[in-house]
Amino acid sequence: MKSASKPRSRQVMDFPLDVRTQEKAKTDKAPCVASGRLATYAPDGRNVERFLALLSRRMNRHIAVSMIGCVHCGLCADSCHYSLVFPDDPQMTPVAKADRIRKIFKRHSDWTGRIVPWWVGAKSPADDADLNELKNVAFGLCSACRRCTFSCPMGVDTGGLVRFTRGLLTAVGIVPEGIFNVSRDQWDTGNQMGVQEDDYLETLAWMRDEARTELGDDSLDIPVDKEGCDFLYAINPREIKFDPRSIGQAAKIFHLAGESWTMPRWGWDNTSFGLFSGDDALGAYIANNVYEAAVRLKAKRLVISECGHGFRATRWEGYGWARRDQDVPSESVVVTLERWLREGRLKVDKSRNMLPVTFHDSCNVARSSGLTEEPRRVLKRVCADFREMTPNRTENYCCTGGGGLLSMAEYRPVRLEAAAIKARQMEATGAKLVCTMCHNCIDGLNDVIKHYNLDMKVVQILELVDTALIR
Ligand code: SF4
Ligand code: SF4
Repeated sequence: MKSASKPRSRQVMDFPLDVRTQEKAKTDKAPCVASGRLATYAPDGRNVERFLALLSRRMNRHIAVSMIGCVHCGLCADSCHYSLVFPDDPQMTPVAKADRIRKIFKRHSDWTGRIVPWWVGAKSPADDADLNELKNVAFGLCSACRRCTFSCPMGVDTGGLVRFTRGLLTAVGIVPEGIFNVSRDQWDTGNQMGVQEDDYLETLAWMRDEARTELGDDSLDIPVDKEGCDFLYAINPREIKFDPRSIGQAAKIFHLAGESWTMPRWGWDNTSFGLFSGDDALGAYIANNVYEAAVRLKAKRLVISECGHGFRATRWEGYGWARRDQDVPSESVVVTLERWLREGRLKVDKSRNMLPVTFHDSCNVARSSGLTEEPRRVLKRVCADFREMTPNRTENYCCTGGGGLLSMAEYRPVRLEAAAIKARQMEATGAKLVCTMCHNCIDGLNDVIKHYNLDMKVVQILELVDTALIR
């Protein structure tokens, strides 16, 4: 296995200002009405002023507590994969990253920083270059995994502060190009990969036909916009674009379990770039599309496919962003599978999955959503040799591609170096398969496996259940 080399945070801080101005954004792609709500960079010298106004306007109790609660004990340094891999670089510690926004808060919102700024380290950004450096830290040196949040004795949510900071920068258009482009696609098309309706419907029909052939049962269907079903199924657009097998696997399992289900023609994307960019309006728009689809189709519940941030956004955060009650109850498909296995609605044979398998807890599923036991119960039912990673559950390390980092190519080198600890953790299990219930983690873990030459393959729970099914 390769080892990590020297710290690279200095290079990350120095990434130049690369933002989408209104003109540039127009040449990328004609913006539609929705993407007009995505801020573009204005080179008019007033971004610091706008940033500070938003800092004050968006402040809430949760963020204020994290701003003022830190006693700089340094305990969180041992929880961050960046600071563990680069122990000689103090800039990699969670507290140093959070202090970048904390010193601005102190200068403008805290009385100590207003009266004795030199004493408490308070400092205001001077210009767009300072905001750009803040962008490189908030987006480039943190996967918003919240592992440090769980180790802070003062209850400081550094991951939350990072998201808050990202939101302020996104609102003034100082945002990595990858985040900008995916957010624009999500605003424009209702899904983060810009999948057109024809492609979506054709892929569903293709997977239906494959699943029918495999089961030898022409009554199997992937219904679209069918009213009054037991559940509506919302997926990650990556499933349509890059890995439709997961839809076919789900269709077979749902058919054998005997529940009625549907996918919506509109409102099927369970993911949310608003969670990554800190843009609550985008988060609300996408989550609302899904909630409205479930209401419109009179579904009894909403089932969310295997996506970590999609689960967190749709199951929890979206209701807050959209300011609405849970009209329709929602759950992860892994919870659904666990219930069906427990009730005997699915018959499985674990000897069909003989390779040793370990489980990677997605940060957004385990730490931020508290879902840790159902995936294990399913894996123990369908796999002959299940092995825990250490640490695991809420203590697990990030796949290192979380927080939207997979879409930000400029930070890839430092991300992969910081992944050394993840590679060691996975290798130590001796497993040949690493299972995760997250499409984002699949890509993050595949990057780690490739970069560190590990002899492992990434799989999802649906795939292992499908393999073990007695048909
Ligand atoms: S553990 Fe909490 S209080 Fe201590 S340095 Fe980290 S954020 Fe601050
Ligand atoms: S949220 Fe995760 S990546 Fe970010 S500083 Fe904390 S531990 Fe490090």
